[in-house]
Amino acid sequence: SESGSSCYRVVLIGEQGVGKSSLANIFAGVHDSIDSDCEVLGEDTYERTLMVDGESATVILLDMWDNKREGEWIRDHCMQVGDAYLIVYSITDRASFEKASELRIQLRRARQKEDIPIILVGNKSDLVRCREVSVAEGRACAVVFDCKFIETSAAVQHNVKELFEGIVRQVRLRRDSK
Ligand code: GDP
Ligand code: MG
Repeated sequence: SESGSSCYRVVLIGEQGVGKSSLANIFAGVHDSIDSDCEVLGEDTYERTLMVDGESATVILLDMWDNKREGEWIRDHCMQVGDAYLIVYSITDRASFEKASELRIQLRRARQKEDIPIILVGNKSDLVRCREVSVAEGRACAVVFDCKFIETSAAVQHNVKELFEGIVRQVRLRRDSK
């Protein structure tokens, strides 16, 4: 295998309010479910080295999708720079689920011919009584998207570690098949 650690740029996209920054904060967080120090590279960029399946990987996580101060160019930038994407919706908000489909299509257009690793993320799974999108719908959507699917809760930190490990595995799968 290769020497040295691999570095992957992972981008959070999805409607405002779905929990992207909450997930990023857990990734960055001190309340530690993941096992190394995090470096904050800017207000919306985080870097952390994770051990996944016995191999280290450095993840640079970008949470700038909703940063409107910088103007619309930032979304084009986000669409171009990711090695992998987390498309996030809230299970309590059907409109955010529909938006996720749009984003998948946009991403496909922006990165034609590239096989980009994506995880479709149904966040806020703790809010069971407000659920508007079923697990089955999320899963079916991921099949159409040709990507992985996971439900998370940033609030109770359920499946968040698994999410970040999962995206590293997805990038590696493609790297290893080259
Ligand atoms: P962003 O706009 O996508 O970055 O979303 P935020 O991370 O700012 O979250 C929006 C709101 O949803 C905040 O009030 C969060 O506390 C809340 N939130 C985020 N994730 C969860 C979750 O998993 N469960 C619950 N109950 N609330 C969440
Ligand atoms: Mg945010």
